[in-house]
Amino acid sequence: MILLTHALVGASVANLLSFNPALAFGASFASHYLIDAIPHRDYGHYYFLDRNSEPTHYIFHNYRLFSQIFAMSLDIILSVILCSIIFFTNPATIFITLVGIAGGILPDFLQLIYHLYKKGPMISVQKFHEKIHAPKPSSFIYGILTQVFVVLIFLGAYLLQRFL
Ligand SMILES: [Zn+2]
Repeated sequence: MILLTHALVGASVANLLSFNPALAFGASFASHYLIDAIPHRDYGHYYFLDRNSEPTHYIFHNYRLFSQIFAMSLDIILSVILCSIIFFTNPATIFITLVGIAGGILPDFLQLIYHLYKKGPMISVQKFHEKIHAPKPSSFIYGILTQVFVVLIFLGAYLLQRFL
């Protein structure tokens, strides 16, 4: 799923478990793998670093590479902006929200590291990620809708406990 989905779900989970930041981090980290198992659509935000595909130094000669980096940067910026609007209600929630965003998107950064250094434990971590990750659905709309649905469930649970 895209980083925005992972950030929103991670931040919701962390804010629900704000009484224990370590648990909040672990749960938001686990949420990444859980929701990646649901069929969805994303833009393959880490393949641009793979040594076996396109070398990084071709960045300015390769439109696809550039568009992937652009999409990923936009994804991260949007994640931080949206999460701060939704979750930063007082100084205490800033910390736990950042914990949730970090936990939620960390597995994809581990993939990024894997594509740079295919060594040691990174291989097992990547194998697990690929095994749990759902194959891409054929329909673009369906792939987007599942992410909206997932966000609504987790964000809904967070908003319910905040306002009830
Ligand atoms: Zn992932």
